[in-house]
Amino acid sequence: MQAMPHMPDLPFSEEQKQYLQGFMAGVLQRGGLTFVGQTADGRLTHEPEQAVRDLATPPPAETLYGTPVDRLCKQERIKLAQHPLDIWDRVLENAAAGRFPEGDDVFRYKALGLFYVAPAQNAFMLRCRIAGGFLSSRQAHGLADLAERYGAGYLDLTTRANIQIREIGARDAANVLMALADLGLTSRGAGADNIRNITATPTTGFDLQELYDVRPLVRSLYYYILHSRDLYNLPRKFNVAFDSGGVITAAADTNDLAFVAVRVEEGHDVPPGVYFRIELGGITGHGSFAQDTGFMVPPEACIATAAAIIRVYLEHGDRTNRKKARLKYLLERWGVERFMEAVQERLAFPLIRFPRASCAPRPPRIPGAHIGIHPQRPEGHYYVGIDVPVGRLQASQLHALADLAERYGTGELRLTVFQNLLIPGVAEENLEPLCAALRQLGLSPESTSLRQGLVACTGNAGCPYARTNTKAHALALVRYLEEEAGIDIDQPLNIHLTGCPHSCAQHYCGDIGLLGVKVKTSAGETVEGYDIVLGGGLEADQGLARVVARGVPFEEVPPLLAHLLHTYLQQRQENESFAAF
Ligand code: SF4
Repeated sequence: MQAMPHMPDLPFSEEQKQYLQGFMAGVLQRGGLTFVGQTADGRLTHEPEQAVRDLATPPPAETLYGTPVDRLCKQERIKLAQHPLDIWDRVLENAAAGRFPEGDDVFRYKALGLFYVAPAQNAFMLRCRIAGGFLSSRQAHGLADLAERYGAGYLDLTTRANIQIREIGARDAANVLMALADLGLTSRGAGADNIRNITATPTTGFDLQELYDVRPLVRSLYYYILHSRDLYNLPRKFNVAFDSGGVITAAADTNDLAFVAVRVEEGHDVPPGVYFRIELGGITGHGSFAQDTGFMVPPEACIATAAAIIRVYLEHGDRTNRKKARLKYLLERWGVERFMEAVQERLAFPLIRFPRASCAPRPPRIPGAHIGIHPQRPEGHYYVGIDVPVGRLQASQLHALADLAERYGTGELRLTVFQNLLIPGVAEENLEPLCAALRQLGLSPESTSLRQGLVACTGNAGCPYARTNTKAHALALVRYLEEEAGIDIDQPLNIHLTGCPHSCAQHYCGDIGLLGVKVKTSAGETVEGYDIVLGGGLEADQGLARVVARGVPFEEVPPLLAHLLHTYLQQRQENESFAAF
């Protein structure tokens, strides 16, 4: 005898519930599925011809998480009309017909990780999910194969330690998604109103100073997200990061939710050990970094806490106005205290209120540690950070990197938020042959202070929102500064170019940030240009860059910045950083 099914709390009379309970038990005992409907006078029936309503189909909703349907914004109505994960038939039909999605489906496809990026390109961009930026050489080979077979033979490393493949044709939409799944990867939820690629300290697991290996946490949350259908309908996108306390930044404070490892020493009213601070509300394009909530949890509580936080946002975020839909705005409306009370209500264990100042100071991050040769655990081994100019790799280069990771490392690659990657686990005697092989590939473990922190979003060569060609401008700018203006600076400098206010390259966090704009010249011509911001930084150097110039045509930007950097080099006080200047 199978267990009696639990009766959902539906608005039925006791008599109706008993009927349904008995009916379901009968169905279970027979092992079959039978129609259950409701007659016009409210009785339950299993005869379809007597029913006016099929109980398996819920009545049309009048509200969505408390928001009346007629007040929902356009994207919410699209999701309500058909859930984006329910369009596989249409993906197949469109692919068979060689059609790109039209109308509302352009938005729905993004939830599958497929972005139709016309007019920039009459093609799809596939945004994968590389959880934590942890990539095996087998997967790297597979992604390079996908770029060659379905794309244009190149891949872009992104500021969420992720990979995008471009120029995919209409007929390959389903093929590329299936081929990605064959690699043990997915792009589900990589776009639209979903939890985006989880980022993490790129050196976690072999970092010499980290407090906690966050790989199991990243993996657990990744699979939690993938298998929780309700989380595919957030009010807006949602970013999560895990900071292990390691040498390279995960840009944790730019995320909606960051778990930041801290150590609590003896002598407090909580057991000593490693905990994760909960930071909320980062969205630098809207001028906010994630703020410490005053709460922390032990490592084993992170996933349940993340789920509770995301579900409070899911149920209470603004679904009427896209510009106010991110978590930051719910926190502003409610305040952190009320928000965390709502999170606590969903948890079976207490969140720990504990002052951040009472935690041991975080081990310092090392600027520039994402490039070059650095010691790691176990002793005698090194990770090699490779400079990938503006994050663009040819498929042949990724194949070769995967081979090198197998031959000289542990067969693993790590992606960083600087649009570059690391090969970990290289024994000392293998450093020289590895570096020689990298140089042959046109890649290098060496970089310059200007190139190591050069970050550029896709720009108008591939993104429909872009106003400028960010990647090409980034390379031209640094070439000018180094080769024509002779700038030789003795500290890592971050230059971030972003093509529109979506701020994928986080221009407000750069020492120098450039935001793409269209500029009208005195001759009446419209050209590509930038607003220039200065003095941004992350985490220990946290600060939003300030606007110093607006609407500068790109051809004037390199000489202007060269003048600025020369002035800094001539006038700075001893040890004065560029940000402080
Ligand atoms: Fe596109 Fe704007 Fe993002 Fe750049 S910042 S990739 S232009 S959406």
